[in-house]
Amino acid sequence: MKIPKSFEMMNRKISVTIKNSEYMNKANILGYSNLNIATDKSEIVIEKAPTSVIQETFIHEFIHLVFDVIGEKRLAQNEKLVVLMSQVIAQAIQTMEFDTKKKKK
Ligand SMILES: [Zn+2]
Repeated sequence: MKIPKSFEMMNRKISVTIKNSEYMNKANILGYSNLNIATDKSEIVIEKAPTSVIQETFIHEFIHLVFDVIGEKRLAQNEKLVVLMSQVIAQAIQTMEFDTKKKKK
């Protein structure tokens, strides 16, 4: 799964940054997200890590934002729900098999 540099969620542009961050190191977190309705500066920030960890962190923060953007603040803050959903979705995405045969016209 490729990690995008940005995407839109309900017409809000979300930027995605992967970097080493002192803040995340100190807080002992792998990523965070902000949905900023006022400034249109919404973002997902992910700590540099092995690819599978970055992917799962991206999906984790993505789910937080989905609940935020649909106004489900309590679900967005339900860390257990978000962790379980991101693990299930990450495994499904990471194990997807595709038919690589090209279709003939
Ligand atoms: Zn979380």
